This record gives sequence, C-alpha cells and structure tokens, in this order.
Amino acid sequence: MEKKNIDWANLGFGYIQTDKRYVSNYKNGAWDEGGLTDDATVVINECAGVLQYAQTVFEGLKAYTTEDGHIVTFRPDLNAERLEQSAKRLEMPVFPKERFIDAVTQVVKANAAYVPPYGTGATLYIRPYLFGTNPVIGVKPADEYQFRMFCTPVGPYFKGGAKPITICVSDFDRAAPHGTGHIKAGLNYAMSMHAIMEAHRNGFDENMYLDAATRTKVEETGGANFLFVTKDNKVVTPRSNSILPSITRRSLIYVAREYLGLEVEEREVFFDEVKDFAECGLCGTAAVISPVGKIVDHGKEICMPSGMEKMGPVIQKLYDTLTGIQMGRIQAPEGWIHVVE
Ligand SMILES: *Cc1c(COP(=O)(O)O)cnc(C)c1O
Repeated sequence: MEKKNIDWANLGFGYIQTDKRYVSNYKNGAWDEGGLTDDATVVINECAGVLQYAQTVFEGLKAYTTEDGHIVTFRPDLNAERLEQSAKRLEMPVFPKERFIDAVTQVVKANAAYVPPYGTGATLYIRPYLFGTNPVIGVKPADEYQFRMFCTPVGPYFKGGAKPITICVSDFDRAAPHGTGHIKAGLNYAMSMHAIMEAHRNGFDENMYLDAATRTKVEETGGANFLFVTKDNKVVTPRSNSILPSITRRSLIYVAREYLGLEVEEREVFFDEVKDFAECGLCGTAAVISPVGKIVDHGKEICMPSGMEKMGPVIQKLYDTLTGIQMGRIQAPEGWIHVVE
C-alpha cells in the first residue's frame, strides 16, 4: 500500500480529510447495519437535537505503525465502554462495543495510506462520536441518532522534545459535583472555551481546575488528567467523580505498578500538597504525558523541581514505557494492542 505524500514529521494537530469514514444511523429503536462512506458531510435537520441541546458525546484514540510494520490501535475496548457511559448519561442509545471495535478496524484499514510510518512521531487520530439527528424543540432526548467515526493524521505532539508547560489555577469550574465531568461530552468543552482563551490571553498553556464544591482539590485540565510524582518517587493521581477517566492515565498507573515497580496512590489531592511534589504531568491520548514545569495560583508560582527544560525522570520513564508498548517495542499487557493489519 502506497502511503500518501504527507510531510509526517511536520504535521500539526488539525483536520485533514481522509478517504473513508464509518456511519451508522439509529431509528425506530435500532441501529442500521452501518458501513464506510466517502461522504465527509453530515446533513441534518435545522432543529436536530445536537444543534439545539448539545446532545453529543465523543471519543478519541489513535492508530500507530509499530516497529515491525503492523498497524495497531491502543485499548479501543475502553473507548467503546466509555462512549457507552457517556451515551447513557445523556439518554442516548448505546453503540455496541463489538461494532465500535469493528468500525475502528474498518476505518483504519480503509485509510491505511494515512497511517504515519513508524519513527515519524506522527499518528492517526480517530474520532468516534454520536449525536441526536431528528428535530427536537421541546427539551427531550432525540429519537434518532448518528454514530460516526472519521480519522485524520496528526503530527508528533512534541516537536523537538517535550518542553514543560506553565499552567494556571482557573477561577472557572470545569464540572459540577454531580454533573457531567466524568463523561466525554462536547458540552464540557463548550463551557471550557472561554476559560482556556482567558488562560492563553494571560500567558498560560492550560488551566488547572479545582473541585467546584470546595476549591481545595485538584481535578484536571480541560482535556487531560494530572499525574504527580512525590519526592520519594510515588505516583499520585487525583480521584474524583467529576474527572474524565482517562485511558492514558489508567494505563500509566498500570505501567507504574507492574512495569516500573512504583507505588501509586489514587486519591483526593489537595492543592496545598502540589508545592511538595517533585514532578507533574498531564495525561491524555494526544500527548501521552505532557510535563508541567510551573503552576501559577493567582500570582503565586509553584516551580516543579523537574524544571522548565525537560520531563522529570519518573514521568520520562512512564512516557518511554507506555509509548514503547504502543509502538511495539515493549511487550504489552494482554489485550492492550488491537492489531488492525
Ligand atoms: C479525553 C479526555 C481526557 C484524556 O483521556 P484519554 O482517554 O487518556 O485520551 C482527559 N480529560 C478530559 C476532560 C477528556 O475529555
């Protein structure tokens, strides 16, 4: 298979239209058989539920070319399960897990020419999503839905090394205690746009959100979970009902315990403790781990001992091990790697 003529190493994180996407429609209480299409356009009624009341949930995962030339995806079963949780919370029909995984396989296979070659640092980002399509004007769940999955090649997250970022403690809340912070819904992002633009205007890369009820505990950023490392090499990650259960974070915790023999604590993390940590990182599919060098709380700076030049040593080890597993250089735990071809 001939790869597309793309400058893989210099790709950014943007949308590039690929050849095929998967579509299935839900009507009269059932999903149709679904399949691939060339048509990148969605045509829906002006009053569609998604347009009026934001009834939409999504996922994000990647396909990689491994060292030995296979194309694989990483734990797509967990994306399917999380999409199910998200759909249920917004009263949407569940797209079955087996069909989700089959759709991933079909989409990646059909766009294999867009899967970046091994060693370029680039990957194929896959975006599954589900939204209400029929007219809804009185507030209620839609009756008809579309499940769609497209993919787009994305460049290496860190060009020329992972430079630690500076984040600020936000005055905005990301999620309410019994709200929707734990599901992957577009609505959580719509309300974060103003907060992230404010952070950027103030010179910060990201927001650290605290728990909305007490504003004393660390939650997450707009799109990534926190990992901290203590001065005695313990990995600490916040536990909360209002953070999104990151698959990367769950995988890194396993890697920390089982591959690196580190102690891991999943617990409430008070903001007051942050100044005592040695390393801080943000984890998610896009970057795996993005190191944080500085956290600013209303002018008060917390400078992580790992500094502003490179990742801290423990976070670097976690990063190297997980990316090694994804790229096929390190033996993966049973069931983590889904071979597409
Ligand atoms: C998607 C997402 C993450 C990261 O989850 P991964 O499964 O690791 O990609 C973290 N926080 C939020 C709010 C997210 O939407």
